Amino acid sequence: MRTFETYESEVRGYIRSFPKIFKQAIGAKLIDEQDNEYIDFFAGAGTLNYGHNNPKATEAMISYLQSNGIVHGLDMATSAKKAFIEKFVSTILKPRNLEYKLQFTGPTGTNAVETALKLARIIKGKSNIVSFTNGYHGLSQGSLAVTGNNFYRDESHISRSNVTFMPYDGYFGEDIDSLTIFRKFLEDSSSGLDSPAAVILETIQGEGGINVSSKEWLQGVEALCREFDMLLIVDDIQVGNGRAGNFFSFEFAGITPDIITLSKSIGGGLPMALVLFKPELDQWKPGEHTGTFRGNNLAFVASKELLSYWDNEDLANAIAYKEKILKTKLEEIASEYKKYNIKIRGRGLVYGFEIINDENMASEISAKAFELGLIIETCGSSGQVVKFLPPLTIDEEILIEGLNLFEQAVKEVISGKEKHIKKEY
Ligand code: PMP
Repeated sequence: MRTFETYESEVRGYIRSFPKIFKQAIGAKLIDEQDNEYIDFFAGAGTLNYGHNNPKATEAMISYLQSNGIVHGLDMATSAKKAFIEKFVSTILKPRNLEYKLQFTGPTGTNAVETALKLARIIKGKSNIVSFTNGYHGLSQGSLAVTGNNFYRDESHISRSNVTFMPYDGYFGEDIDSLTIFRKFLEDSSSGLDSPAAVILETIQGEGGINVSSKEWLQGVEALCREFDMLLIVDDIQVGNGRAGNFFSFEFAGITPDIITLSKSIGGGLPMALVLFKPELDQWKPGEHTGTFRGNNLAFVASKELLSYWDNEDLANAIAYKEKILKTKLEEIASEYKKYNIKIRGRGLVYGFEIINDENMASEISAKAFELGLIIETCGSSGQVVKFLPPLTIDEEILIEGLNLFEQAVKEVISGKEKHIKKEY
């Protein structure tokens, strides 16, 4: 670790939560330099939905490189890009009756979000964007402006204007429909809400604490967008790509966003981002939004192979099956430790475990889990939620093994606390 501590910036993040040097990874497992194995319930924050080094992708990339396939091609036409586009259209868009244009942006999520915001503002000729409490959309300037978490916002010392925050689903508790507030602001021309070009949301807030919006709420937002001439942007960077059970996280609600952002797992583990928009919104002038790394050809090769997981219903069925295992186990643990008031929420293979009565416990559990051989992160405005994000392709036995390690970590953290309380008493 000394190399990292001496030479790498203090900005280091995940290395602090998981302080080992990793050398290999396969499927849902990581291996450190001492040959210890770890079960990965973090999956590169949603980048490794198909597991580490998925053999389908690895084999395709090796043979592509060995045949001198184009690795960098700016945004020129390449065979790899053509194959990816055709696969994406035929496997993902057509069967869902979706018609979108594809735009390849710089390779990170925040690049895709910047692009979506810029396009929406250009089309509507308005600057304001509505985002939701606890939303996370990235940390470049425009994305940061639509990100709620103060840990990131306060650091930047820049103007974060042209954005208005509205309450997300459930923000005021289950009994209050947060959209009545949004509607009132839109209807009242003197509310101070500048007429928005677009609304951006995550259907499940990944960094914000696994806050899950309902079908009705999503339909309600879509209806407001239509009524008040705002574009609907769904940021599916973390919970798209199958994470919430279907390829797109909004499918269950039957809504059709105007713009969709994808990154993380769309590159099959490699950097890549994609913005989808309805054909009539394709109002860019040629080269108007450019960049050197738009479309990563190696990622196209990997992604095209991995999209074949969506050729049939098998993956979606497997996710639903594994969701039951995950949810049941988490609910069992929550009911065993009732006095801590643990809330379980999620959909597909993204779940949160929030310990209401002890905000620090989530990070203690994550640290203990790591000691036991499980990689699992926290999220939420104060890191109070343990976040479950295993690869979608995880074997059932490894999922169960990981859940047992998690249970053990919870047990050890709680019994450590209770011993401590007894002693104090
Ligand atoms: N949007 C969402 C929903 C995200 O979860 C993230 C990353 N956690 C981003 C945008 C930003 O992606 P990146 O870190 O690749 O810029």
